[in-house]
Amino acid sequence: MTILITNDDGIYSEGLLALKNALRELGKVVVVAPDRPRSASGHSITLHKPLRVEKVRMLDGDFGYASNGTPSDCVSLGVLDVAGGPVDLVVSGINRGPNLGWDLTYSGTVSAAMEGVVMGIQSFAISVASYEGDEGFDYAAKFAAFLGRILQKNKLPESVLLNVNVPGVPTDQIRGIEVTTQGKRHYAGRIEKRTDPMGRVYYWLGGDMPQDELAEGTDVKAIADDKVSVTPIHLDLTGYAALDIVREWKIESFKYGTSED
Ligand code: MN
Repeated sequence: MTILITNDDGIYSEGLLALKNALRELGKVVVVAPDRPRSASGHSITLHKPLRVEKVRMLDGDFGYASNGTPSDCVSLGVLDVAGGPVDLVVSGINRGPNLGWDLTYSGTVSAAMEGVVMGIQSFAISVASYEGDEGFDYAAKFAAFLGRILQKNKLPESVLLNVNVPGVPTDQIRGIEVTTQGKRHYAGRIEKRTDPMGRVYYWLGGDMPQDELAEGTDVKAIADDKVSVTPIHLDLTGYAALDIVREWKIESFKYGTSED
């Protein structure tokens, strides 16, 4: 089994090393990761400049491949060339910080796993829901190996990846594992408007911590309860429940050039 791992925190992040070391017992592990932090880069790919891949020593002395591309680029590079043969599993992480609810399309971590699915390979993303300390990473690494073994024997449906979040708490405080749906997070007050020393306005995105809608069965609720959340994510973003509503609007009646347009 060949496993490609990547992340969006960069090749020198500790979460990547924990993942690599845990997955090594399942097969050959190839690391292709961004050469710098690329968090919140979403599912972007690089089309207008050359991509480089450099063999580097990671912090534990092992070799990995660092690229100037995005996390999704790293998956393409790994699968199509660097791995040197078929890749059976793509794992992205272990990300520092949660990827829950509406974070998913911003997330470079989750998007890298999406890219794996686009390439027809079983994939999952794994994150620790904490921005500081080491709690959760060892658990997440072992859980990733457990999940990897399950995916050796079982196949996810087509176009589906798994998004895993592990609470950033000591292992004995983790209160279970739940298969969840994607919840909702609200980012209120997420823009700060400031003035620079030259008198020009600039903005910072980020701002306050998101407010989660803590509905039962969702990823945000599981993490709020210190449970591991495992969400199957489908790449088909169609709002099926809205199809009939939008059809009701008779959108097809539009005629270019008439006075009512
Ligand atoms: Mn990240």
